[in-house]
Amino acid sequence: MLSSRSAESCRERRLSCFMCMKDFAESFYNSNAWHRCRAAYIGKRLLIDGGLCEECHERVGYIVHHKKQLTPENINDPEITLADDNLEYVCKDCHDRFPGHGVGSEGLTPRIRFGPDGQPLPP
Ligand SMILES: [Zn+2]
Repeated sequence: MLSSRSAESCRERRLSCFMCMKDFAESFYNSNAWHRCRAAYIGKRLLIDGGLCEECHERVGYIVHHKKQLTPENINDPEITLADDNLEYVCKDCHDRFPGHGVGSEGLTPRIRFGPDGQPLPP
């Protein structure tokens, strides 16, 4: 079938489309419930170890990360979205290392290869 628009196929693939992820998660991340939950979690981490990143324990936390990635299926499930068990306070560096979270990581793996004559090969 040739008629499916890209938004449709994104919905089928669900997890992989960043734009769709952003769209469905946006209202959640703007919700009072999340803001309260996030602040409470950071407060808890501050009491535990001063708010250090839970991954590297070197830098100060920056982002409250969902260990189980939010999807259109679980976005309304507070056991996933708002449960401490699913949260992790991490620094920006560690967060960007999680799969699919590397916002701003472009340029890490240059795709340029060089031929035997020293000239860059077309991608
Ligand atoms: Zn870290």
